[in-house]
Amino acid sequence: MKAFILLFTIVFAVLLRRLSIMAHPYAKELEVATLAVKRASILTKQLSDSISKEGTITKEDKSPVTVGDFASQAIINHALKINFPTDEIVGEEDSQHLQENDELANKVLSLIEKVQLETSDFQKVLGELKDKQSVFQSIDLGNSQGGSKGRFWALDPIDGTKGFLRGDQFAVCLALIEDGKVVLGVIGCPNLAKKVESNTKHSGIVGGLYSAIKGLGAYYSPLFDEISFQPLSKQERIQMTQHSTPDELKVVEGVEKGHSSHSTQAKIKETLGFNPDTVQEQTINLDSQVKYCALASGQADIYLRLPINDTYREKIWDHAAGNVLVYEAGGRVGDITGQPLDFGKGRLLPSKGVIAGNDKIFDKVIEAVNSVVE
Ligand code: AMP
Ligand code: MG
Repeated sequence: MKAFILLFTIVFAVLLRRLSIMAHPYAKELEVATLAVKRASILTKQLSDSISKEGTITKEDKSPVTVGDFASQAIINHALKINFPTDEIVGEEDSQHLQENDELANKVLSLIEKVQLETSDFQKVLGELKDKQSVFQSIDLGNSQGGSKGRFWALDPIDGTKGFLRGDQFAVCLALIEDGKVVLGVIGCPNLAKKVESNTKHSGIVGGLYSAIKGLGAYYSPLFDEISFQPLSKQERIQMTQHSTPDELKVVEGVEKGHSSHSTQAKIKETLGFNPDTVQEQTINLDSQVKYCALASGQADIYLRLPINDTYREKIWDHAAGNVLVYEAGGRVGDITGQPLDFGKGRLLPSKGVIAGNDKIFDKVIEAVNSVVE
């Protein structure tokens, strides 16, 4: 009898856990995306740490980012393919360069094999890649052209490669897009501390996983904890702050001057009434979609990404996951005219620049942008 009660309790507990995971829309998608991003984040974090340890000699050598990019995309695409076989993927990489370089391909496969072993409890959901041919095939699943109808995934296997090579911020970013709208986003930030107050003040646990599902909110959980997957109900709900006066506002911007116009951004902050003596302390420079995570978790109120020229078009994988995260945390995202970003026009965004802000400040920021940009 005792054994029967024990068995019944175990079965009931397993069923309950299954139910709690499955209790909301996109539950399966969230579990697969989370585990895939975690596996890719563990792999890329090891590479990023090895760059920092080995110092400047390997910093000039771009191969760690190249192998990381390929391995991350192979792992994530494979997981999506086996769980959602009819879904298309818009991924940043294709396998041609890897197919032409056997040494690189061997390195990618061995890194994948290592992380698969280290995360063997994810295997049931993510499957495993066993040879170079399947790695190439998996990478090339990312060749979708996107579009305004149906559903597809957008993947940036390592966003912020410049930050990655500096040993700074980078992110593994995955989003699900339906009929041109982002409905789910998962971002792994291997080097991001939980609290970011300024460029010099970062504190708390390093490595964050940021997730959002349309209509269900935005969430944080530690990226490298023992637990493989936490349902949303067990994650920490995050919200943007709703600051609106210049002395309490913080602004996130990129690090790379070649990716956004820091001088235009300075003029916009001036127009918004920032104090010249404190504006530097109120500006936080971060690579990659980590910026959206800092916004969504209430570390900053505004994101400025002013174009440096008229011709560059943003890639959808650079903004999709961050977009749903900010909306679900109480903010808005638009181009320099304030129009929402359109993820249904192919692999590129049709617009220029990116501006994000909390609901309270967004319109004012767009006004300031308009008065500065011709
Ligand atoms: P961030 O770390 O915010 O500077 O953004 C990194 C992303 O900027 C990369 O993934 C690139 O795709 C993208 N990027 C590259 N060139 C440009 C450019 N001229 N303007 C804007 N973004 C760019
Ligand atoms: Mg990118």
